[in-house]
Amino acid sequence: MRAGAIWGRVRRRLSVEFGEDVFSSWFKSIEIDRADGNDVRLSVATRFLKSWIDANYKDRIVDRWSEEAGRRVSIEFCVRSAGGARLPVRPRAAGEVAPRPMTAAASPQPVVPAMSGVEGLPGSPLDPRLTFDSFVQGRSNTLARAAALQVAQSRSSDAVLFNPLYIHAGVGLGKTHLLQAVAGAAQASGRRVLYLTAEKFTFGFVAALKNQTAIAFKEALRSIDLLVIDDLQFLQGKQTQAEFCHTLNALIDAGRQIVVAGDRPPSDLDGMDERVRSRLAGGLTVEIGTLDEGLRLDILRQKLDQARVQHQGFDVPQQVLAYIARNVTQNGRDLDGAFTRLLANNRLTSQPVTIEMAERSIRDLVRVAEPKRIKIEDIQKVVAQHYNVSRSDILSARRTASVVRPRQVAMYLSKTLTLRSLPEIGRRFGGRDHTTVLHAVRKIENLAGQDRALNEEIETLKRRLND
Ligand code: ADP
Ligand code: MG
Repeated sequence: MRAGAIWGRVRRRLSVEFGEDVFSSWFKSIEIDRADGNDVRLSVATRFLKSWIDANYKDRIVDRWSEEAGRRVSIEFCVRSAGGARLPVRPRAAGEVAPRPMTAAASPQPVVPAMSGVEGLPGSPLDPRLTFDSFVQGRSNTLARAAALQVAQSRSSDAVLFNPLYIHAGVGLGKTHLLQAVAGAAQASGRRVLYLTAEKFTFGFVAALKNQTAIAFKEALRSIDLLVIDDLQFLQGKQTQAEFCHTLNALIDAGRQIVVAGDRPPSDLDGMDERVRSRLAGGLTVEIGTLDEGLRLDILRQKLDQARVQHQGFDVPQQVLAYIARNVTQNGRDLDGAFTRLLANNRLTSQPVTIEMAERSIRDLVRVAEPKRIKIEDIQKVVAQHYNVSRSDILSARRTASVVRPRQVAMYLSKTLTLRSLPEIGRRFGGRDHTTVLHAVRKIENLAGQDRALNEEIETLKRRLND
């Protein structure tokens, strides 16, 4: 059997064994790089994927491949570059430890941490409830959780795999939870952790730095193993950003790990120092997607388990949990709010939680089905950013391919996402005729029907606009 056919069968088995979510997170993008007798080389897209698969799934893949091939094979993973060429992967130095396999049982159990911080550099408090154990895994956060777990479990002496790790997501999707879990777990395992909100960084850290000599500053920094910064989008001010950039560079150069969360991808951090943006983009960037209904239900179940430890006799029927999961769609904070109200209601009135009670107490949290109004200007901005052209290019008369496609996509989205007429859209795109807009809309419709990549691009843009 040819390697391609064997791999096809192995993939199908992995998909059945691990389920579609895990499969698409880890295995889907694996490609055959070379298959030479019993030596197989598979390629993956990033160093992170390589290290994760090596540590967690390699043996399974070797087994399955050997079974399908009818002989024992050895498999090695490599990282392919965007162009398809292979990047050399640094061999592990003597004494360097491989990332440990991560199973649920091995996930860290942080003891109650008080504050993060190292001598001379006080950090923000850590919430002992925000751990990996209480973080529910779902399709939208698998990668982010895995990357965070890997960072949390590596030791000071381990090679830093991806630095900085940048996690981004909208409000209430679990960024802070994940960051605190990393900080708590790393601290519990004896690493020196500094966890800072952007605000604390601005008003505490930078001030502390100013009061120290350059040498004391370097010393203090050297004593940090892991720096965690939450809500980077709030890091304002030239001076603060310059300090942050300085800190980032100093720590990365010293081989220390940095984890950062923000509400948007690095490229969208308007007003952020360009050097910071490029440094962030040079590490690993992972996004947490919206919580789907299944994940919302799992989170609620987990909250119930937690609450029942403290509040004996408290219970919420499955039916009510399902009702909340279905109707409170915005984010994790609303789930928190809904749950807290049920608990409060039950504790105060001693009435059991019923659907009626749930309906009454969370009425205002139930999603309003009114779609967000999207502006043509926003469409132009988002599309321009996505294709790396400027908005004025889109509005200009230029007809080079690099701006024609983005322009057509933006027109198509304007037609499908707003109620504007074709002539109005034409006017808003630099005074074009409505037939030009119509042509663009038809063209993109046609292409998207045939071209899956374009179709996905458009879906991504729509999602971003609807956020
Ligand atoms: P963010 O920092 O992204 O705005 P948070 O981390 O504060 O979001 O999450 C908001 C709430 O939702 C928190 O109570 C958090 O524990 C909860 N939450 C979000 N995602 C998860 C998850 N995957 N598992 C458990 N709880 C979650
Ligand atoms: Mg947060």
